[in-house]
Amino acid sequence: MEGGNILEEVRLRFAPSPTGYLHIGGLRTALYNYLFAKHNNGKMILRIEDTDRTRFVEGAIENLIESLRWAGIKYDEGVFVEDGKIVQRGDHGPYIQSERLDIYKKYVDELIEKGDAYYCFCSKERLDKVREEQKIKGLIPKYDGFCRSLSLEEARERIANGEEYVVRLKLPPNRDIKFEDIIRGPITINTNDIDDQVLLKSDGYPTYHMAVVVDDHLMGITHIVRGEEWLPSTPKHVYLYEVLGWEKPIYVHLPTVLNKDRKKLSKRHGDVSVEDFRRKGYLPEGLINYLALVGWSPEDNEEIFTMEELIEKFSFDRVSKTGGIFDIEKLNWVNGHHIRRYDLDKLTNLCIPYLKEAGFVDDKFVEESFDWIKKMVETVQESLSNLSEIAEKVDIFFNNKVKPENEEALAMLKEEHVPSILKAFREELEQVEEIDEEFAKGIMRKIQKSTGVKGKKLFMPTRIALTGNSHGPELVSIIYLLGKENIISRLDYVEENYL
Ligand code: GLU
Repeated sequence: MEGGNILEEVRLRFAPSPTGYLHIGGLRTALYNYLFAKHNNGKMILRIEDTDRTRFVEGAIENLIESLRWAGIKYDEGVFVEDGKIVQRGDHGPYIQSERLDIYKKYVDELIEKGDAYYCFCSKERLDKVREEQKIKGLIPKYDGFCRSLSLEEARERIANGEEYVVRLKLPPNRDIKFEDIIRGPITINTNDIDDQVLLKSDGYPTYHMAVVVDDHLMGITHIVRGEEWLPSTPKHVYLYEVLGWEKPIYVHLPTVLNKDRKKLSKRHGDVSVEDFRRKGYLPEGLINYLALVGWSPEDNEEIFTMEELIEKFSFDRVSKTGGIFDIEKLNWVNGHHIRRYDLDKLTNLCIPYLKEAGFVDDKFVEESFDWIKKMVETVQESLSNLSEIAEKVDIFFNNKVKPENEEALAMLKEEHVPSILKAFREELEQVEEIDEEFAKGIMRKIQKSTGVKGKKLFMPTRIALTGNSHGPELVSIIYLLGKENIISRLDYVEENYL
């Protein structure tokens, strides 16, 4: 375990804001929190940071929780959904920030009393003007401290008169704030470069900065693991811990998840929500395994892991400082591995919605022919990198109007010897009531014997006559899955249309 008191229980939190959906980068943050917590037999907490009321989206909390559940991140404490309702569990609640306003107020008051925070009455117009002027002078825009020296009596009088106000952190001038980040090492920032952060907004809600510090302390958080976009805020938090007289946690800022152009992965460039990947048919096991590798690398060359293996292997010393690139091809590769090792019954059940959507099966068919579907899924299992690909892969089993995929395939069907193969095929079919596995395994050998045609000249036209394609699943599986009736119908169609 890195840092901290060895006797202390490790407690980590994932603290998303309910602004809509869970971003793939957010899932990785949640995952690293989870892996580290579980690696150290600690606890993970889910806290909802909803103090920015302008960004609140209805249903977002449920959506976040569902995405975490799907991904297999089994946190211990905080906010859950049970029977469709939001519930909270744990000794440090409430875990939804909008339900903790009194708590924040108490600490804001304490800071004001001690002179570590002050009331500010500056209007938006004034702040905009100050910022404009600073920009013109080439300065970094920052609050100019106009209300810093107001006396408490005067401020209270103005509040009593109904003036709108915020509360700001009173940073001492020219002081180095130091802290250590597990990934980035020691960091020092001078207070002259930091704003007097608003802690309490005019709507009575705390800002993220105030709430995060109070909550992480009261919830006993030992390690803060979050995206590096929060690194510039950390000195303010560190200072708050100091003036509140609390021990600060250990900080771990994760490199951003980037796209191939090394830009932040954003909705404008395609799928970014966990829900998108789920819909496309990525398995939670595959997505989690892949995300673990975006920014972290295991000690050996192994790359395919279960959650348990990740928990065992994960550590922060192998998380890189630079952004992790999200590479969809690698995700496909990892996910394909998990599809191949998946339990076939489970995989079949997961594929059925895609087959329904493609119009290949309906409830009745699923009920009557589950084993057949399962066998079909098995024949293409090897070739899938996500489940939504199933529709195009099994397309060949659902349309008896065979269409040669290209000129070359058509030319192969038109070869002189093909009618004799198809005739022999029919003759063999006439011998049986229906096709069983043994028959499917033996038929090509029999045709070879009776026609004298073998190898590619035998198999290619047969495959094309049955599916239209020159590549695809094992011919034996195709024959077995199609069954006698469908095959005859296909042979009829091919003979009528192409020979
Ligand atoms: N609410 C913040 C977010 O949505 C959490 C930042 C943190 O973990 O401190 O990213």
